[in-house]
Amino acid sequence: MTRLCTLLAALSALAAPAATHAAPDQQPRAAARPNIVFIMSDDHGKQAISCYGAKAAPGVVSTPGIDRLAREGMRFDRACVTNAICGPSRAVMLTSKHSHANGFARNDQRFDNTQQTFPKLLRAAGYRTEVVGKWHLESDPTGFDHWDVLVGQGDYWNPTFLVNGTRTTREGHATDLIHANALARLESLAAGAKQGTPFALLVHHKAPHRNWMPCERHLGLFAGVTIPEPSTLFLDPAARSPAGALQAMQIDRDLTWEYDLKVPFAQLFPDRKKGNLDQWMTNELARIPAGAREAVAAAYRAENEALVAAFPTMDARAQTSWKFQRYAKDYLRTAQGVDDSVGGILDALDRLDLAKDTIVVYTSDQGWYLGEYGWYDKRWMYDTSFQMPLLVRWPGVAAAGGATKALAQNLDFAPTFLEAAGIKVPADMQGESLIPILRDGDRAIAGFRPSVYYRFEESKGPHTVPRHEGVATDGAKLIRYLDLKGKDGGPLLELYVTRFDPMELTNLADDPDHEGLKEGMLAELERARARYAVPAEPAAVVAPVAAPVQGE
Ligand code: CA
Repeated sequence: MTRLCTLLAALSALAAPAATHAAPDQQPRAAARPNIVFIMSDDHGKQAISCYGAKAAPGVVSTPGIDRLAREGMRFDRACVTNAICGPSRAVMLTSKHSHANGFARNDQRFDNTQQTFPKLLRAAGYRTEVVGKWHLESDPTGFDHWDVLVGQGDYWNPTFLVNGTRTTREGHATDLIHANALARLESLAAGAKQGTPFALLVHHKAPHRNWMPCERHLGLFAGVTIPEPSTLFLDPAARSPAGALQAMQIDRDLTWEYDLKVPFAQLFPDRKKGNLDQWMTNELARIPAGAREAVAAAYRAENEALVAAFPTMDARAQTSWKFQRYAKDYLRTAQGVDDSVGGILDALDRLDLAKDTIVVYTSDQGWYLGEYGWYDKRWMYDTSFQMPLLVRWPGVAAAGGATKALAQNLDFAPTFLEAAGIKVPADMQGESLIPILRDGDRAIAGFRPSVYYRFEESKGPHTVPRHEGVATDGAKLIRYLDLKGKDGGPLLELYVTRFDPMELTNLADDPDHEGLKEGMLAELERARARYAVPAEPAAVVAPVAAPVQGE
């Protein structure tokens, strides 16, 4: 690649005009006041979805439910989050405000549930609003006629729910319980919809969040199959930047044997004490209903026995490969339950004759590392966690089978739903309506945002990813670490020409040939900060890169 072409590629996106909301005369002609079914999973990466190519295991992973949405609606290929972590992402989705503006930037904070959200605005305009599944905002849901949400992170088996404020524990697997609940709510909402009361139903799955406990029917999925190892599974974490060495999300070092990998710790290490998370697994196993307990144990028994026998002679690389297989399969099995649910919800909409009047969205609260760079977890601005799956079916508006490269964000759900419902989008919402993109695909990109702003605020929290912000265009990405010092004494930077380096393996921040691109991207970062009124960073926070932190 030449300096000129990389510069042009990255700067071409910056020339696009400022984004605007669609004019009133561009309102969709589909059903006025459509129903909304918003399905969001937790930590579902695009590489685990077949309509995105299932890059983690092409030809092995099949997600027919989500694929149906892609066939009948629009697939967003560059949709991304503003902050790749669970609670904050949910707060952005509800408020259409970046984390600094909605006040919920880290998982250890509490969402101010008195603030404006799209469910409140829909409800005030006559929609019936409901949410089932994971909530994870610390404060209770507000703006819903009915809410039935997991307590905290929620358990995979026999989870406890808060139903309009009352605790109830249900027997079964979280994904199937949430799905059954979604179907029951749809049945109930259908009658009102036929009589002129549209609804917005939010279905938030816990899966495939850590610690990846599949339901009984998926325990045998991928038996005898080898999931391909990502080419970067054994990458030196500091290869791209010293920031990479600070994380604690490595498959080889940080995944726990019992809690994450389902191998009884004492069988591998009879003389050692379990770590905290491995001790926690006792509780997780105790929650499994008696009727499913033996099936769960049996699913892992033979492989675990073979591991224990081979363990004394396995080198570190072989252990990592083993961990990757177990981890990737349990993740994909757990995600399969979500796909079953998406397919089942689409079938229910057909059965209830609601499909043509209902917007259906599938997304996740961010992407996920399935072994890329040797990692699990999320948090970074690298595309694997920064990007999220996004499929939208809206008969009469979104072209069936369409795809777009628009830089959509989770900021955009609220303005899209409000505009679809004929409600004025409040001026303080920071997202853009996706309706022009849904209607016209890439032809509407010229009127859409030219770049996206990102900011991750946890620093020494779980997985110890350093705080960073950044800006991405359709061709390049600049990341700036808020607490780490680079070689020149300023903040540590990373620069990638994502158009030619989609896995972001070549950091060009210190490459003299890319100085112009870096300056252009730094200027774009400042424009993005101004666009979203990001507060100035205190001056004295930049520190040298510290020694790597070991995981649990
Ligand atoms: Ca998440």
